[in-house]
Amino acid sequence: MPRLTVTQVADGLHLASTGLVNWILAEEDGQVTLVDAGYPGDAARVRESLDRIGRSLDDVAAVLVTHAHVDHIGGIEWCGLAAPVFAGADEVPHARREFLQQAGEIDVLLRAWNPRVLLWSLRILAVGATQDVAVPEVTACATGTPLDLPGRPVAVPTPGHTSGHTAYHFAGVGAVATGDALVTGHPVTGVRRPHLLPSFFSHDEAQASRSLDELAALDAGIVLPGHGDVWTGSLREAVELARS
Ligand SMILES: [Zn+2]
Repeated sequence: MPRLTVTQVADGLHLASTGLVNWILAEEDGQVTLVDAGYPGDAARVRESLDRIGRSLDDVAAVLVTHAHVDHIGGIEWCGLAAPVFAGADEVPHARREFLQQAGEIDVLLRAWNPRVLLWSLRILAVGATQDVAVPEVTACATGTPLDLPGRPVAVPTPGHTSGHTAYHFAGVGAVATGDALVTGHPVTGVRRPHLLPSFFSHDEAQASRSLDELAALDAGIVLPGHGDVWTGSLREAVELARS
């Protein structure tokens, strides 16, 4: 079973990680904004992550979705969250599963000759990677302006990995939840620095590359990725590493 770690990265901001995927908890005045919620099998770990920071499901004011892949929205319906769910406008129909932009079992099987891919696929099966997930009740969030939620996140459209992929900028503490637009580690790559996921995970690679420019322009010194460790340094530097 994946082991949960919860690391405080700034005042009121925490990165939860299972080693397979991350989610973020932004706390303010006893309320929490959750960014993503892991795999379906992570539901108990989402609750545990709240417990570790002294909060419960009832304290969650909203869930922000970076993108609607099973490893980021799976825990939402499974852990019994009643809070409203928001995503980038172009990600809303994806979260409702009006369509699916996700590497399928065939994509993974074709690469199972790679021991990293094989091991990873076995690990994610155990947390419900092949389950059908959807978030029927999801609302498009405003972009470019602080949302009236704990941590005052600003939604930054970063399409490519999926059409409506969205990063969330916590300007007050200079941190960015980059989702899968920029990661710092993944069991499939074995790389432990800012990088892009392998192309078979991405819907539109050219767009993903352009979105890196959006991230590089943000005034922040902490990267909170969808996969991998916290990375400290300017976003411009992180993007340069991802491109190198
Ligand atoms: Zn992911």
